[in-house]
Amino acid sequence: MGQGLSCAVDPEHGLFSAVQYGEMETVKAILERDSSLLHKRTAYDRQSLLHIASANGQIEILSMLLDQSLNPDLLNRKRLTPLMLAAMHGKISCVKKLLDAGANILKFDDHNGRTCLHYAAYYGHSHCLQAILSSAQSSPVAASWGYARFVNIRDGRGATPLHLAARQKRPDCVHILLDNGALVCASTGGYGYPGSTPLHLAARGGSLDCVRELLSWGADRLQRDSSGRIPYAVAIKHMHGACAALLNPSSAEPLVWPSPLKFISELNQDAKVLLERALVEANREREKIILKGTAFSPSPSHSDSGTCDDISEAGDNELCSICFEQVCTIEIQECGHQMCAHCTLSLCCHNKPNPSLASIIPPVCPFCRGPIAHLAVAKFKNSDDPDHTVNDISSSKLRKSRSSRNLSEGSSSFKGLPSAVGTLGKMNGRGSGGITADNGLMDKP
Ligand SMILES: [Zn+2]
Ligand SMILES: [Zn+2]
Repeated sequence: MGQGLSCAVDPEHGLFSAVQYGEMETVKAILERDSSLLHKRTAYDRQSLLHIASANGQIEILSMLLDQSLNPDLLNRKRLTPLMLAAMHGKISCVKKLLDAGANILKFDDHNGRTCLHYAAYYGHSHCLQAILSSAQSSPVAASWGYARFVNIRDGRGATPLHLAARQKRPDCVHILLDNGALVCASTGGYGYPGSTPLHLAARGGSLDCVRELLSWGADRLQRDSSGRIPYAVAIKHMHGACAALLNPSSAEPLVWPSPLKFISELNQDAKVLLERALVEANREREKIILKGTAFSPSPSHSDSGTCDDISEAGDNELCSICFEQVCTIEIQECGHQMCAHCTLSLCCHNKPNPSLASIIPPVCPFCRGPIAHLAVAKFKNSDDPDHTVNDISSSKLRKSRSSRNLSEGSSSFKGLPSAVGTLGKMNGRGSGGITADNGLMDKP
């Protein structure tokens, strides 16, 4: 009775369930008996063995099937590929295996016209999203379609993966997509017609993290959807009060990650992490002020994250001579001048999304007025670190001569900082006397 008999009577069904539950020996035995079963499909949904293995994360069986040279791009009834199913269910090892096997990332399903990237974003599987994006950079798709077009690919209703991630409250995916060139103000309308932006959909979903992330990448609070509503109105309608407070056009603008600047796009990973953290901190401080007095206050887990990290990580580094509050963690490679991440960011941030991005003038070093083309993490003085021993003597000498120069040049240099520094200082509630907010110099070449 039972298993053995039913297997003999209905080997197909036995095969499908063995693939689903990862019973490798059973799968092998059935296929050895009848190799034509390799191409069997389920009766209604037309799922192949690859679909079943991918959706259930059965990586060993998937590998074995791919080794039998099964086409990785088989389609089921709804024209979903095994890669879409793996991305949908967050089966990262299967996603990677299928990508390695040459699965096509540019297939659209029948139902919603979505790609594997849409599915990873919709279901919030950021590791799968990242794997697909990495693969896209080296795949033929990048050459033919262009990477930026792939990141901003539309589904049947005009939604990009960023729209779906924002709507489904997936801040990690929102961040990864923006970091990879997703258009923050893309409209589902297309062809110049009004539609919803990712910010509208985040307002509808009610994710404060998504709203926050989109705003810090320059999302426009005043863009209107097809019903003429700004994101603020959408948040109000769906009763997401905290989101509405941030989206209210009359509340202060957040600092915006200056992604169009060349030296920001070429940042090394460590420097980028420091600056991104500084941006998040600055905007959280700003949020506290906005949300204060409303019924919403930032959750504690967010408000106190990493405030002191710069100092603990920086060891013996010198105090930033712009704000006299934080230690120097960022160095301008051209001139070697150092400052803290907050001050660096204030130099580079513009408060409003600028439609004429091409005309952005890169900021200059506040100490020597030299152009900023490359930023790096400031070298530590700590000689325990083998990476830095070689430069230790010369760099500490340099730093000394620099510090004395800073003192003499300091007072005039501070005027070169954009007003954002003053704003940041105030927002942090620790506005130091060292900064004279003097508008204008940023705009001059
Ligand atoms: Zn500083
Ligand atoms: Zn300099």
